[in-house]
Amino acid sequence: AKSNTKGKHQFFDPAMDEQLKRRLNVIKELKGALENDEMVLFYQPQYCLKTNQYIGVEALVRWFKPDGTIISPMDFIPAAEDSGQIVHIGEWVLKTACEQQVKWTQEGLPPLRVAVNISMRQFKDPNFIDYVHETIQSTGINPKYLELEITESMLTEDAMVFIDQLSMLRLDGITVAIDDFGTGYSSLSYLQRLPVDRVKIDRSFIRRVESNQGDKTIVSLIIKMGHELNLQVIAEGVEDQEQTDVLVELGCDEVQGFFYAKPMHANDLKELLLKKQP
Ligand code: C2E
Ligand code: CA
Ligand code: CA
Ligand code: CA
Repeated sequence: AKSNTKGKHQFFDPAMDEQLKRRLNVIKELKGALENDEMVLFYQPQYCLKTNQYIGVEALVRWFKPDGTIISPMDFIPAAEDSGQIVHIGEWVLKTACEQQVKWTQEGLPPLRVAVNISMRQFKDPNFIDYVHETIQSTGINPKYLELEITESMLTEDAMVFIDQLSMLRLDGITVAIDDFGTGYSSLSYLQRLPVDRVKIDRSFIRRVESNQGDKTIVSLIIKMGHELNLQVIAEGVEDQEQTDVLVELGCDEVQGFFYAKPMHANDLKELLLKKQP
């Protein structure tokens, strides 16, 4: 338990207590979830605005509980990070996503880049790099089609360890994207030194990009800065044509969002890609 749980009880706060109970319950239920095949990976396509085709997918985990409820990652990833279970879950996610990439290619789809979310706790795990190597070997994925997404906020903690690990992984041909970009505090000079390939503009800037001049300016600056630094830029959370039009106008490279497709089962994604492109 965290050292501050004591403090929470000393100044008893019923809401806090409920939250803690819920989290402990999630941790307990998570124990059997992987063994019982309750975790499912969904995939959301990423669309290239330069070539007008689907170019990749992001793998997003879902927890299908035996009682029929589907739990969003937002409701169990934080607990899994606290308990350390995220390491086990993350290894499964990485392996499953790589296997799926190989399978789609064998089924005749053009090779898709598959992006996998990596949490801080996984990165700190001493076996992380080895596990990534092993997974590439055992699944046979071409590493150039594997992308790791790390959040901007992760880069402020233990930065040197990160930079070394990221550099090692990129030597294999893996690409790295900075997720939720714009919400953290990374400075320009810092970004320039980081071994990354892509920045992913956070959804909060895309939501009003067509109506709010401030948001549009930020998005425009991120795209310009990214291109100056030789990085690709992808926008997340694109929900309509107007937002897409602005992103095309600003020179954004790629987009991902409900306007193109929601996260879906691997087979549905295959069907979508076999149908004509949008
Ligand atoms: P994220 O990495 O920022 O993922 C994008 C989230 O935005 C996904 O939520 C996706 O379903 C949602 N989204 C996509 N397009 C749109 C859109 O047009 N509009 C709106 N409103 N939302 C959109 P999801 O799948 O619930 O995942 C939530 C978060 O959970 C992710 O945020 C990520 O941080 C985390 N997560 C998901 N899968 C994994 C995983 O395998 N490992 C780790 N460590 N974290 C994961
Ligand atoms: Ca992500
Ligand atoms: Ca994101
Ligand atoms: Ca986000």
